Amino acid sequence: MRTVITGGAGFLGSHLCDYFLEKGHTVICLDNLLTGSADNIAHLLGIENFTFIKYNVTEYIHIDGEIDNVLHFASPASPIDYLKLPIQTLKVGSLGTLRTLGLAKDKNARYLLASTSEVYGDPQVHPQSESYWGHVNPVGPRGVYDEAKRFAEALTMAYHRYHGLDTKIARIFNTYGPRMRLEDGRALPSFISQALKGDDITVFGDGSQTRSFCYVSDLVEGIYKLLLSDVHEPINLGNPNEITIFQFAKEILEITRSNSKIEFKPLPVDDPKIRQPDISKAKRFLNWEPKVDRLEGLTKTLEYFRSAIMESVKK
Ligand code: UDP
Repeated sequence: MRTVITGGAGFLGSHLCDYFLEKGHTVICLDNLLTGSADNIAHLLGIENFTFIKYNVTEYIHIDGEIDNVLHFASPASPIDYLKLPIQTLKVGSLGTLRTLGLAKDKNARYLLASTSEVYGDPQVHPQSESYWGHVNPVGPRGVYDEAKRFAEALTMAYHRYHGLDTKIARIFNTYGPRMRLEDGRALPSFISQALKGDDITVFGDGSQTRSFCYVSDLVEGIYKLLLSDVHEPINLGNPNEITIFQFAKEILEITRSNSKIEFKPLPVDDPKIRQPDISKAKRFLNWEPKVDRLEGLTKTLEYFRSAIMESVKK
C-alpha cells in the first residue's frame, strides 16, 4: 500500500508515518514545515519505504504512480498557532482539503480527514456525540480553525456523496505525547515545560474548564482502524477521561515533583468550558477505545520533554 500523509512532519503526522511504515506501507510525507519539524521524521529519512517532500498542500498536488490512501493531517493545531497563522489555517483546511480530496479522487484512493472536537465549538451538550452540530463563533479568533474544519468536513462528505469517494472523518479530541513542541502553547507542553524549568504554571481563567486527554498511540490506532472501516460519517476519537485544567496542572506538578506555583491568567476568547468525547460510536463500529491511562501517558511524555529541554538548552 502507498499512503500519503500530509502534515507528516507534525506531532500526529509523524506518529502516523511511524505506524504506517510498521504496518508495511510505503509512506509519502508532505509537509511545508510551517508548524511541523524535520526533527520529527529525522529517524525515517533514508528508509527505503519513506519519502519526505517539503510541500504546501494548498497548491495543486501531483504524485506519480498509484496511491492507496490519503490522510490529510496538515494544519496548525494549537490555538496560539492559529491565532498567529489565521490565513494559512483557513487555507490548509479549505484549499488543502480540496487538493488532497482531488488527489484521492484521481488515484481512486481511500481518504481520511483529520477533523477536530473544535467543530463542536464551546459546546452546550455534554459529552459531545457526533450527532451534535456544535456551537461555534464563526468570526471569533478560533473561527479560522473551527470553520475551516467544518468546511473540510462538508467538502469531504460532498466528495463521498457526489463522487463516491471512500472517505473517513476523524473528530480528534485533545491528544498528547512525545514530539509536541515545547513552545506550542497548549496546556500540556506549557505546563510540563514550566514545571521542569521551575517557572509559574499558567492556568487560564479559574481552571474549571475541562478537557479529556488521549495518548498519541491510542489515537493512531483509532485512525488506522477508521481508515480501514466503512464508516463514512464523522466519528469521535479521544479519551473520555475528563479533568479540569486546574486539576491537570496539579497532576503535572506532582509527576514532575516541581515546586512551581500556579499563576492564573485571563481565559482566551471563546475557550470551550467543557470537552469530553462520547466514543460509543468508535467502540461499536471500530471496536476501538483508548488503553493508555493518563499517568502512564504523562510519564512517557515527561521523558520526552526532559530530553527535549536538555537539547534546547545545549543549542
Ligand atoms: N490553558 C491553560 N494554560 C496554558 C495553555 C492552555 O490554562 O498555558 C488552558 C486553555 O485555556 C484551555 C485548556 O487549557 O482551557 C486546553 O488548552 P489547549 O491550548 O491545550 O487546547 P484546546 O483544548 O483549547 O484546543
